[in-house]
Amino acid sequence: APLLELRHVSARYPDAAPDSYALRDVDLTVHAGEVVTVLGPSGGGKSTLLRLVAGLETPSAGAVLLDGLDQRDIPTHRRGVGLMFQDHALFPQRDVAGNIAFGLGTRRRGDRPDPTERRAVVDRLLDLVGLAGYADRPVAALSGGEQQRVALARALAPGPRLLMLDEPLGQLDRALRERLVLELRELFVKLGTTVLAVTHDQGEAFAMSDRVVVMRAGRVVQSGTPQEVWLRP
Ligand code: ADP
Ligand code: ADP
Repeated sequence: APLLELRHVSARYPDAAPDSYALRDVDLTVHAGEVVTVLGPSGGGKSTLLRLVAGLETPSAGAVLLDGLDQRDIPTHRRGVGLMFQDHALFPQRDVAGNIAFGLGTRRRGDRPDPTERRAVVDRLLDLVGLAGYADRPVAALSGGEQQRVALARALAPGPRLLMLDEPLGQLDRALRERLVLELRELFVKLGTTVLAVTHDQGEAFAMSDRVVVMRAGRVVQSGTPQEVWLRP
């Protein structure tokens, strides 16, 4: 079975009009090792989709399957789904290591590393995201791009089977985005991480992904490799 499958998923917020769906009959499959990006304009349903897979929202219809099992039948700590939020949601008063170690804390009790092991994991993650030596710096003193890397390291810390990224480069200026998107792609390929990202930026989606899913007004309107999606008008 694929790592993630959405089958005929619809979602309507409780306060929305009866016929107003954030997602409508969405089918989506992500296989282990793939980097899939959902591309679409603001309000298209991208964040709702990520929140559904993270278990923060419930579908009004359809099902979210992980390894072929209905997500609702898997305890949260066993799902192996990590989410990097759009606004990073870092703790500004903690240092870099403290922020990343928080990601480790979301592992199950028995799996939590001791302080020495934790520091080794933090250093390895910092190395991966290009921030070696940053462990003791306060997060508030970092640039936007550096904070983005810390948020990525924190999301990677528990070793999620599926890493979800909400507008991973959204807060950064264009030059930095163009550089980071290629780094991200390299990192995911190197780690073999399965990724589901959402963005409104076409260039970012095409540069980062094995497959692009285009969403508009809550529906999937196109899906394929970047080349396939690019070629179709
Ligand atoms: P995107 O991430 O593509 O910008 P969203 O998933 O945030 O899209 O939004 C999809 C639709 O659902 C929009 O019409 C939005 O206004 C609506 N929506 C999103 N979150 C909520 C919410 N908490 N309550 C009600 N409506 C919401
Ligand atoms: P994003 O680009 O991440 O989708 P949004 O502006 O759509 O950001 O949403 C930001 C926050 O506002 C989210 O927590 C979302 O749930 C909430 N939200 C979005 N649209 C609505 C809405 N129509 N009613 C209530 N909450 C909403």
